[in-house]
Amino acid sequence: MSVLKQALNEGRFVCVLEIIPQQSTARLATLERIVQRGHLAGWPLLPAFSDRVGLRSDLSPLAGAGALGDPASSLLHFSGKDRERADLLLQMEAMQARGLRQLLLLSGDRLPGHRPGQAPVRYLESVPALQLARAHGPDWLLGAALNPFKYREEEGGAQYLKAQKKLLAGADFLTLQLGFDAAKHIEAQAWMRAQACAKPMLACVMQLTGKRAAALQKVPGIVITESMRGLLERERQVSPAYAGARSRERLALQIVGLQLMGYAGVHVSGLHTLDELQALERAICKQRDSVASLSAWTERWQASWEMPDAPGVCFTPDAGAWKMGQSNVAATRRERLKYTLLSKVHGRFFSRTGWLSQAFGWSMTRPLWQDGIAAQALHAVERTIKRPLLGCDTCGRCRLQDTFYICPETCPKGLANGPCGGTHLNRCEFGDRECVHSVKYRIAKSAGQLPVLALTLIPDIEAGHRRRSSWPEWFARVDSTSRQACKRR
Ligand code: SF4
Repeated sequence: MSVLKQALNEGRFVCVLEIIPQQSTARLATLERIVQRGHLAGWPLLPAFSDRVGLRSDLSPLAGAGALGDPASSLLHFSGKDRERADLLLQMEAMQARGLRQLLLLSGDRLPGHRPGQAPVRYLESVPALQLARAHGPDWLLGAALNPFKYREEEGGAQYLKAQKKLLAGADFLTLQLGFDAAKHIEAQAWMRAQACAKPMLACVMQLTGKRAAALQKVPGIVITESMRGLLERERQVSPAYAGARSRERLALQIVGLQLMGYAGVHVSGLHTLDELQALERAICKQRDSVASLSAWTERWQASWEMPDAPGVCFTPDAGAWKMGQSNVAATRRERLKYTLLSKVHGRFFSRTGWLSQAFGWSMTRPLWQDGIAAQALHAVERTIKRPLLGCDTCGRCRLQDTFYICPETCPKGLANGPCGGTHLNRCEFGDRECVHSVKYRIAKSAGQLPVLALTLIPDIEAGHRRRSSWPEWFARVDSTSRQACKRR
């Protein structure tokens, strides 16, 4: 059994070291020494190879692991950016051949250069990716992501509802986005403990220097407030050495605190040399020996973000302060009206009950529509009706019924199961619109149907199935489902 699987099974705290696989031989040699050491402050340490986060010239996670001799404990990332099911299966086959069976499945952040309004780039979403990976690797260790650093009800609620789907789809553990707000770490643990099938969670951590904070402020989904940056700058003004020591102490303290909160481990990034690892280890041992409880830790964590005469640090963005359990949003009148109208139209034409729907269903299942000019004409009709109304991209398998009539193709990444981690106060990572999943959350809430957003796993659409009418497929799907039900009876 792998080090990670064993640690998670036994409830033993574990450290995952994130490696951005780069070509540099010197960097690889240093990382090899860290990986060979295999522990941090007495906890097992194993490498994770990230996917499509750095430069285009970076290696793939597989090549990165290969460059370090394929350590069997490796956790490989798979990012769904501009990927299809076949890409995931290929990676799994190659991993299997090398004895690697641990995957962290991520939808991925925005592809560099992808702008709103351009030809859509589609993402293999983490929920169907997890289902696929689970089907092909029943005994694999599979992880997924959760970003609890959300400060509006819609985006926070939608994150947790999607995380429930990830658990249903087969995730063995969740890894949190990088964050520094301890209240949100505690909130995420409370949420997980309330789940019927609670799983272990890892939290991403990093030594936060002023320079890194400036860069991370631009990374979607990571919350760095101005007051945090202000304090880091004051520390730097004392001296770079002082700032470095304080940020390392905070990282050590955060790791100790996450263990006290009940996290199964940490996913450490930004650590590149053995010297840095050993310095962190010393700092962890010092903190661990002197903090006995979470309340004592909380006081010390607060103090670690203070300096004489410096303004207080706040981890919450100015414009949002939502906490789990607070419920005060509802769909707007327009959103409710649109939902009601569309569900009535849907019922009339697509429910298969009533003469109109049955007649429409009968006509759509004629072989005539399968290909050729008739198929093209039907595609054009569906697109003409639905594009102006819903933003439909004629994906070939309509998912509107499960998405409260918000077309998933209006999400710039085409996500159907819920938001990615990149929203900021309900705004889409692309910055040009409100996140469609926040709108969907409001509508589902007002319709009293929030559980649908946690329980209905929506399949992905393969490129080859796009650009055709979804109507014949819709009725054929219902037909084959009823036939299977009849056979079972
Ligand atoms: S057919 Fe696909 S693209 Fe069109 S509305 Fe339905 S889900 Fe959206």
